Amino acid sequence: MCGIVAYLGDKEAQPLLLEGLRRLEYRGYDSSGIAILNGKGLETVKKVGRIQNLENALALHPLHGSLGISHTRWATHGKATDVNAHPHIDASGKLALVHNGVIENYSLLKRKLEEKGLKFRTETDTEVLAFLIGFHFDSLDAAMDNRLEVAVMEALREVTGTYGLVAVHEDQPDIMVGARRGSPLVLGIGPHEHFLASDVSAIAAHTQTVAHLRDFDVVTIDRQGYRLKSLSQNQAGLEISQIDYQAAEATLGDFPHYMLKEIFEQTMSVQNAVRGRLNLEESTAQLGGLNLTPQDLREIDRILITGCGTAMHAGMVGEYIIESLAHVPVEIDYASEFRLRNSPLDRRTLVLAVSQSGETEDTLGALREARRKGHRVLGICNNVASTLARETDGGVYMYAGPEISVAATKSFTSQVVIFVLLGMLLGRMRFLSASQGREMIEAIEALPDQITTVLRQSDHIRQVAEKYRHSKSMLFFGRQMQYGIALEGALKMKEITYIHAEGHPTAELKHGVIALIDENTPSVFLCPRDGAYDKNINNLQQVRARKGPVIAVATEGDTEIQNHADDIFFIPDAPEYTAPILSVITLQLFAYHMAVILGRDVDKPRNLAKSVTVP
Ligand code: GLU
Repeated sequence: MCGIVAYLGDKEAQPLLLEGLRRLEYRGYDSSGIAILNGKGLETVKKVGRIQNLENALALHPLHGSLGISHTRWATHGKATDVNAHPHIDASGKLALVHNGVIENYSLLKRKLEEKGLKFRTETDTEVLAFLIGFHFDSLDAAMDNRLEVAVMEALREVTGTYGLVAVHEDQPDIMVGARRGSPLVLGIGPHEHFLASDVSAIAAHTQTVAHLRDFDVVTIDRQGYRLKSLSQNQAGLEISQIDYQAAEATLGDFPHYMLKEIFEQTMSVQNAVRGRLNLEESTAQLGGLNLTPQDLREIDRILITGCGTAMHAGMVGEYIIESLAHVPVEIDYASEFRLRNSPLDRRTLVLAVSQSGETEDTLGALREARRKGHRVLGICNNVASTLARETDGGVYMYAGPEISVAATKSFTSQVVIFVLLGMLLGRMRFLSASQGREMIEAIEALPDQITTVLRQSDHIRQVAEKYRHSKSMLFFGRQMQYGIALEGALKMKEITYIHAEGHPTAELKHGVIALIDENTPSVFLCPRDGAYDKNINNLQQVRARKGPVIAVATEGDTEIQNHADDIFFIPDAPEYTAPILSVITLQLFAYHMAVILGRDVDKPRNLAKSVTVP
């Protein structure tokens, strides 16, 4: 799902909306549009493609007015075209609506409206909602001063699905109505002006005073202020907070792409995830945000980690880390699977939901399912102002700073280092001695320098990428704590280069994957010096015997590996629980350079959105 920005105040709306859309553009971007109400009526411009296309169109015909709504779309229903872009207009032509999410019962509603003689122009679910609100509006008394608000509420009572939305109407030209269910919407409050946006980053440059709408909230904004209603029984007012968002952090600086900037930021972001969380005196970690007493922590006898995409891969590494450090059984499950499955969780199971944005729809679904069953759910997320942060019982923030590139990089290493902290905390309450705790702290403290060493190989990795630029397919292999890295390396490669890539547990090679090996299919083997080294070399030779090119990720000082691999990315010597943080960076750089060499749009790969907030 994509982005909403709306403005009502005393300034020109168009430049503010465009700037806000630009800040949200990284989240998905197949089309965008804007509608502005001025004294003369409603004017709309919509364009498929990048926001630049919308800007070009508006440069020719600027829209003037101080009330406007805008949207970047990540299509779920109906192709990415000019007409299907938001805002959608109702049958009367006077109401405009922007919407994030999915109206699940849209075909039923559409049929009902068609029976009343209404004719639709698009295949989208959002247009149906625009028509439905418009239909209610038209059947209400024209003298009502809360006519749009009532129309929105009546329409939403008929809707199943998810929405963050904003509606405006020509006949109430100084009002906008926002509502939320399942898709985030935040109200920004400034002097003489109000904003509604799907993400604070869109408006943070203009106001730091914000309130997050809760599910079923409906907010009506006019030139005097705002008022809140709810579609549920909720009587509570909005919680207004001040955000501390340095908009400057989200700029590119000297880097050609956000992805490269964020890869290089890992020296810092890993430190930020650790800062203040190491207890040197007791040789353990301290994670105050968990909101759990030592007794609670001691009682946990199983952990379930859930997430999607990159966060899921971090969870897979986390599984091995926590099991080996704390001897607590860990299960991992895709959030999309877990939320629908009737998984029998024991009372003492702790659920950990992992999401950079804290808005991933499936992860929120999984956390709600677990909470409904009475489980304690903790979150690991980056976005402090997210739904996940608000709906969990506690958790650990990554403090990685904004991650703009669609392909996640620094959030992954922050998640993994947080699992190391968690493993140490739980382990020190169970089996780990103080001296083992001290060793772990040393290993964690060594990470920033070690990351810098890995980053220095960026040029070498680019040369290797150049060599394999014609590959149509790539395989990634890893065992144990490097298994999740194999999956993550393959994901990075496919996401931004569009080269087919698969990750597998190394030993699965013989059970089928080996059939794919030929001289044009490179295999990346994660084989740092650890307990599985000899086994890995064995598998690697099986690939070479079939003429498959081999790229090895190996430990500095390993001289033997030269005899077995065509190309090598070295990582500093590190214990098996921090080595994944180093090895993954080589694969992030590999995918990045390959994407640049192939001329791909690195930060905004096709078909992908930054945070997937649609089911
Ligand atoms: N379901 C709507 C559509 O396909 C909204 C998608 C979005 O959240 O961008 O137009």
